[in-house]
Amino acid sequence: MLIGPYNISDVSSYVRQTSPGVYILSKDGKSAAYVGRSDTDLATRIPQSAGEGRGYTSFWFEYTSSAQGAYSKECEYFHKYNPPDNGVHPAVPQGTYWRCPAVGCNR
Ligand SMILES: [Zn+2]
Repeated sequence: MLIGPYNISDVSSYVRQTSPGVYILSKDGKSAAYVGRSDTDLATRIPQSAGEGRGYTSFWFEYTSSAQGAYSKECEYFHKYNPPDNGVHPAVPQGTYWRCPAVGCNR
């Protein structure tokens, strides 16, 4: 379950576990602009991904119990929201053969 939206400057206040997970960045606090994941540490990944000057104002996040779980959720939200800032389908980590769980997707 995604929780948020929270202000992008408050990641460390809300993402307090060192955990894999998935996140969504937003420019208006309402719609998804970008979906991403971390296989190891969501709290480090979100600020790196949001960067500076890219216009992201807020985020949602969800912990997962594994990197594969993070990939699965990332795919789910990628297909659900079709975020404009995701140029390509989520990639699997090198050396894994995970499949996208979305019906009709052959990735
Ligand atoms: Zn897919």
